[in-house]
Amino acid sequence: MRRKLAAGNWKMNGTRADLAELEALCTAHDGADVDLLICPPFTLITAAAQLCDGHDMRIGGQDCHMAASGAHTGDISAEMLKDAGASAVILGHSERRADHAETSDIVRAKARAAHDAGLLAIICVGESLSKREAQNTLDIIGGQLSSSIPDSATGENTVVAYEPCWAIGTGLTPTPDQIGDVHDFIRTRLEKRFGAGIGRSVRLLYGGSVKAGNAAEIFAVSNVDGALVGGASLKADDFSPIIKALE
Ligand code: PEP
Repeated sequence: MRRKLAAGNWKMNGTRADLAELEALCTAHDGADVDLLICPPFTLITAAAQLCDGHDMRIGGQDCHMAASGAHTGDISAEMLKDAGASAVILGHSERRADHAETSDIVRAKARAAHDAGLLAIICVGESLSKREAQNTLDIIGGQLSSSIPDSATGENTVVAYEPCWAIGTGLTPTPDQIGDVHDFIRTRLEKRFGAGIGRSVRLLYGGSVKAGNAAEIFAVSNVDGALVGGASLKADDFSPIIKALE
């Protein structure tokens, strides 16, 4: 039985004043029957982790470098995230793939570094609108899965997030059938590559314009084990109903 996960990606949003939203979430959801994770910007990780200490809320990063240390100005290693209090990291988000030319090979190396540091790697995959319209969605997802997930993946250290690029921050979402088709495909691919034990234990999140109004419908889809939420994770009043819909 896979435990559900509600993960929030604050992206490049948030200063210390916004930790009040995290505090409100912590208080409201202690004892939640699902795993909870917020990934704030690097600058807030230590303070966020301290704030969440003793609560049922974990903190994660939004990226890490593939190397353990070295001459990489401006970058952060997986070990540094762990040291700051993070237990997870989002990797291969479509904004990183687009803004920083991250390939799936790079994402795989980063995920390997995350595993080595003991972090949960949330590996994102997703097709562009043009690929969806050309009916190439499953080819794209299949390729991203093969190249982005390292052999070290297990159900304990890896989560896959299906995030169609055209649904992120747009208010557009695939239909439940379209989400189900992709999630079932990902599950089958994972089972083929890693065997039934690991393949069935990796959690699959949907991400892309999840909000209170559509969460229950999305969570009812087969092989959806939770959500990776951007905009609607910034305010406790927006994220709480999504968490409740998952419980
Ligand atoms: C995301 O950033 O991963 C995301 C899904 O964003 P949003 O929920 O705002 O579409």
